[in-house]
Amino acid sequence: MGCIDHKNSPTAGNHQSGSDHNPFDVMQPRAPLKTPAERKNGRHVKANDIPPQGVYLPNNNIMAPHMKSPEYVQLSTAAAITLGIMGGRMYGCECTRCLNLLLTYPEGCRANCAYCGLARHREADRDYADRNFIRVDWPAVPMAEIIDIVAGDPEASPFHRMCISMITHPRSEDDTFTVLKQWTDRIDPDAIPVSILSNPTTMTRADVQRTKDLGADIFTVALDAATPEVFDRTRGKGVRSPHKWSKYWEILQDARDIYGPQKFGAHIIVGMGETEFEVLNLVQELVDLGGHSHMFCFFPEQGSLMDHLPATPRDQWRRVQLARYLIDYQGVRVEQMSFDDLGRVTGYGIPQSELSGIIEEGIAFRTSGCPGKFQDDISACDRPYGDSPPSDIASYPFQPKKKDLRKIRRQLEIPVRVE
Ligand code: SF4
Repeated sequence: MGCIDHKNSPTAGNHQSGSDHNPFDVMQPRAPLKTPAERKNGRHVKANDIPPQGVYLPNNNIMAPHMKSPEYVQLSTAAAITLGIMGGRMYGCECTRCLNLLLTYPEGCRANCAYCGLARHREADRDYADRNFIRVDWPAVPMAEIIDIVAGDPEASPFHRMCISMITHPRSEDDTFTVLKQWTDRIDPDAIPVSILSNPTTMTRADVQRTKDLGADIFTVALDAATPEVFDRTRGKGVRSPHKWSKYWEILQDARDIYGPQKFGAHIIVGMGETEFEVLNLVQELVDLGGHSHMFCFFPEQGSLMDHLPATPRDQWRRVQLARYLIDYQGVRVEQMSFDDLGRVTGYGIPQSELSGIIEEGIAFRTSGCPGKFQDDISACDRPYGDSPPSDIASYPFQPKKKDLRKIRRQLEIPVRVE
């Protein structure tokens, strides 16, 4: 399970950003279609009760087997390739550094978030195990099989981190504890630390404590929306989904108390209708609390309630990506930055020469998330092409090269420095 960067990757396609930014008025989710009674809650999967036989590769042309956590989990295509469970290649890199796991049930996630491929309304046309999520398929694999592979030699594993993603389901907490315990019983968390991507809606403070006691290293909250208005519209009342902004913040505060500085954070999707000023204020708030922000560029996930909407224009995304990196890792404060009357970044609050050096390092434009073994500001969770196609990369899952940096500078509208 070695892992090296491709030395001769094909060149990326042309930049095709839209203009400016995604305003609130445009980013309205569509209404879900009605789900036939026989497909609600994974009823047909449970009624047919087909026993799983090892690894299940998503295939919407056949009935999904009856699989559920904690015996089964789903994992990202990148993690499956890295583990050797699936064949395939990824543009620019041969592996992922994060083993992303997702709890799985025939009933699926009971929430209905508008941007998400796993959302409840999709039960109308797709079994849970067959749903695309952050642009890729998630094969289902017995948890014991994953542990057996990694436990063979954790120190030599390409994975720098493992992450359990919870979903909205009545069994989500208990099964997270079981999966976490199974892992830490066999694999030293110092060799491969564990992150929890939580679902606060069904959680208590005691649940957060339990994950810590069982050996988790970092606790993150998938806040996703940057403002209460965007939150309500995309994952609350607006789409008949159960989530509440206040509950997410309650669990985030619990995570801060229990996990401590630098060991908690929030996921934020950029370009769902918030302004750049609003999202960067949130980044600052998280830093002031002692945490980090992990950012995703909005992409219209196929089959989601926002699949008709534009991806975040690259200029908006690059401005936020760069400013977030300055706030999160370079000690710059949002108050030092300047914004226009639409809330767009017009100044980063540091001298041009310093800014140029940070752009040139390229780390600001890599995927953001929980750290791996290289350095604190390089995420283990590289999510290859989870928020863009390889032809128009939003979050770079590898260190951007010179040609990538030239493209990034054009997207930022900052002149290319002649070496
Ligand atoms: S709770 Fe998470 S997994 Fe469930 S629909 Fe919302 S974003 Fe998707």
